Amino acid sequence: MSKLLSELENILRKNRDLVRVIVRKINDYWFSYMKETGVDHLKIMDFCGTHEWTITHYGIRSLLPRGVELVAGPGCPVCVTPSYYVEELIRLALDGVTVYTYGDVYKLRSHRSVKGFYSLSEAHASGGNVKVVSDLLAAIKDAKLHGKPSVFAGIGFETVAPGYAQAVIKRLIPGNLKLLSLVKLTPPAMFYALEVSQEKPTEPPVKGVIAPGHVSTVTGAKAWEPVAENYGIPVVISGFEPVDVLVSIMKIMEQLVRGKPSVVIEYVRAVSYHGDVAAQSSIWRVFESVDDAWRGIGFLPKSGLRMREDYSDQDAFKEYGIRELSPVDWGYDMPSGCRCAEVVLGKAYPSQCPLFLRACTPSSPIGPCMVSAEGTCAIWAKYGSRDLLLKLSIELKGNIGGA
Ligand code: SF4
Repeated sequence: MSKLLSELENILRKNRDLVRVIVRKINDYWFSYMKETGVDHLKIMDFCGTHEWTITHYGIRSLLPRGVELVAGPGCPVCVTPSYYVEELIRLALDGVTVYTYGDVYKLRSHRSVKGFYSLSEAHASGGNVKVVSDLLAAIKDAKLHGKPSVFAGIGFETVAPGYAQAVIKRLIPGNLKLLSLVKLTPPAMFYALEVSQEKPTEPPVKGVIAPGHVSTVTGAKAWEPVAENYGIPVVISGFEPVDVLVSIMKIMEQLVRGKPSVVIEYVRAVSYHGDVAAQSSIWRVFESVDDAWRGIGFLPKSGLRMREDYSDQDAFKEYGIRELSPVDWGYDMPSGCRCAEVVLGKAYPSQCPLFLRACTPSSPIGPCMVSAEGTCAIWAKYGSRDLLLKLSIELKGNIGGA
């Protein structure tokens, strides 16, 4: 069955006729919308880093009408983890604690140096204990072998939280390893990004949202209902194939024309209205939501997960006396000149940053958006800047009949 599904996906992905029909439909909706409303420029936010990857990798922007912009949102957990926590991890690594981390966090630069070091990779090169792992289970396996004080940097969105929760509930984590939960919840960030997008009447507003597919498998479509209800903005939860994204854009445009914003699931093969209820209940058993800081943005209400008191024996905050960042001592924590804070809110493209592909490159990242494979700057650096895409757009539009 799964082989059949993957063959079907391949056929769909390569079906040019289907793509032509969808693109034509998007254009039809757009012209109707312009005629009815007089609006000639709007933005659609693709929240998730993996969607931004699909959009940029497959040149989807080049297939859209000129007035429809796709902008990335804050859907890269590494990009929005405050520098303060990176600094705390560097400090632990230099103090002899083994720090387990994902590969992209390893290269993430802090805003301030810790004993002259700006990243876990720099600390590691100078003798700090840092190990790159693929997940918490790999850290558990390794920590059991050496038995020394260790911490796992638990960075991610709702998608990683059920795995962490299960490991905590089942007491799979050995006594020498502690979990530093830096998990973030995505809906508050989306609401914030939408509010910011409405602030400047001179800029085209965000009129549609492509909601994250992976996160929605856990949260369910219901998590995005406030976007449609409170902001009057259509939401489509999309899969990750280029055809998925195009269909999602088409469904947003359709809703705009009909004037009835709602939450639509395009990614029906993985997402339901209620989501994974068992995963949600294990998350809330272990974690509680807290007001949390997002790098370059500041504190967003109820946007982070920390471990409940019942599990404090497994909590790295408690074990190592790591102080929580508070709104009083949070300060703007982006490197000088870096426009990442605007990039993650859909207010700037990476190519509008003066450092993009000059001082800041994937091999030598300055800002957090250039570090992770889900970071918008890293994606654009690899697959093309806006100028390049615009050139391609003109060529492709010619090839598909001036759509
Ligand atoms: S190119 Fe680098 S410095 Fe500029 S916004 Fe992106 S991450 Fe920041």
